[in-house]
Amino acid sequence: MNIVMALEMAAECHPDRIAVTSGTQRLSYAELLHAARTAGNLIRDSGCRYVGLLDINSCAAPVAIFAAAYAGVPYVPMNYRLTKPELEELLARIAPAFLITDPCYVEPLSLPVGIRVAAREDFLAQVRSGDAQMTEAPGTPSAVAVQLFTSGTTGAPKAAVLRHENLMSYILGTVDFAGAEESDATLVSVPPYHIAGISAVLSSTYACRRMVQLPNFDGAAWLKLCRDESVSNAFVVPTMLSRVIEHLAESGESGALPVLKAIAYGGGKMPPQVIEKTMKIWPGVDFTNAYGLTETSSTICLLDPDDHRTAFDSTDPDIRKRLNSVGKPLGTVEIEIRGTDGKPVAANEVGDVYVRGGQVSGEYLGVGSLLDAEGWFPTRDRGYLDRFGFLYLDGRADDVIVRGGENISPGEIEDVLREHPAVSDVAVVAVADEQWGESVAAVVVLRDQARASVSELQDWVKQRLRSSRVPTSIHFRAELPYNEMGKVLRRVLKDDFRSAVRAS
Ligand code: ATP
Repeated sequence: MNIVMALEMAAECHPDRIAVTSGTQRLSYAELLHAARTAGNLIRDSGCRYVGLLDINSCAAPVAIFAAAYAGVPYVPMNYRLTKPELEELLARIAPAFLITDPCYVEPLSLPVGIRVAAREDFLAQVRSGDAQMTEAPGTPSAVAVQLFTSGTTGAPKAAVLRHENLMSYILGTVDFAGAEESDATLVSVPPYHIAGISAVLSSTYACRRMVQLPNFDGAAWLKLCRDESVSNAFVVPTMLSRVIEHLAESGESGALPVLKAIAYGGGKMPPQVIEKTMKIWPGVDFTNAYGLTETSSTICLLDPDDHRTAFDSTDPDIRKRLNSVGKPLGTVEIEIRGTDGKPVAANEVGDVYVRGGQVSGEYLGVGSLLDAEGWFPTRDRGYLDRFGFLYLDGRADDVIVRGGENISPGEIEDVLREHPAVSDVAVVAVADEQWGESVAAVVVLRDQARASVSELQDWVKQRLRSSRVPTSIHFRAELPYNEMGKVLRRVLKDDFRSAVRAS
């Protein structure tokens, strides 16, 4: 199975239905199929071994994904926000490549030999009118469909390899073919170089739903597009929802979105306060928390709308806390929690999260597969399954603070500090400590006009958690460094602490 199957089925069943819109540009499913096939021929003829995309969301992203599949080469979307040396290095790794881009992103770069630049608008005009007759079959199920750089939250981005069979396993297992109504529209606000952007394109296509591309996210633009394009479904990362809520509070604008049916969110931890506020703003909307990784071709666990409503309406703390859970594994996926001895642990015990299933690739370029002999992949997330099968994440293995042999999760300390009335944002990281090996450090952002001293915040934690959890150092910053997927870049904060120690 090749991902073009999703597009061919959609174009066969609903040729005139709008597949994608961006600004005033619109392509029906028949037009998207035509453009993807024409572009596939063009790329095959160019002899390029990859299709790169260095761009914001536009109609070119879905064309590029399917064109690469028709050409039988991997699709490699890249983050246009990276620095010049980072981009030059990534481009050198994929040359010779057919690079679809806005010229503004490549003008500052020294392009490696073998990069053929196709300016987005010229490319779209060319492939909408060219010859769509395919001369060769698209790649086999085990061919590489997408090569995707991870977010680089914990270290340098890794090039995850996703095969057609991985992506199709996810799509066939989770999406109802042609399940959307004619008027349904998905707002794509996550960037095209993230797995969530790719799965949004593939899922919408298989469901025959209209994709509405938001080029650059901000709260006001998201709300406006929801209204202008009568959006029924949206996927956001938690920080996007926070920014929509902030915008509503600051502008006094009405949050009414009568057509919106469902919001799925994921990609990082959702603060419970944010989801509770959001559920109050849109009580009729179905909320889903989706947990997944690049290496697993997107979502592996879901907290579904019924679970959200049950938790939201309950006064029982055990049920209410499900708003902190990422839900239950998809029917096509298995999750196992393992202890330090590598053996499965009992319910409610924290350990390493392993996953297995057809959508799990677990493979990196230049590294190979990290799947064990039985197909299990170490997510490097920590967490536990409760006795009802709900998964609760407890941070990433790389972020655990090992203080004198004791494992401390930054999440529990962050949750406590976030409840302090003066604290607007916080991240907890490990810092080197002569006595303990590592100790707890916190970086705190205070609310506007609010004040809190280091000792006051330390006392706040001391009253609520064990003494080993009390941060030995606390720094204040105007804001935390986030990537565009809303993840705190802890490695940047650790570097800050290291430099502060060197300077003192
Ligand atoms: P790198 O691997 O380079 O550090 P990254 O892990 O951030 O980057 P992604 O594949 O984008 O790359 O992110 C996957 C991680 O995001 C998961 O392992 C998990 O820690 C987190 N995550 C994803 N979805 C959720 C969710 N719904 N709730 C909490 N955390 C989530």
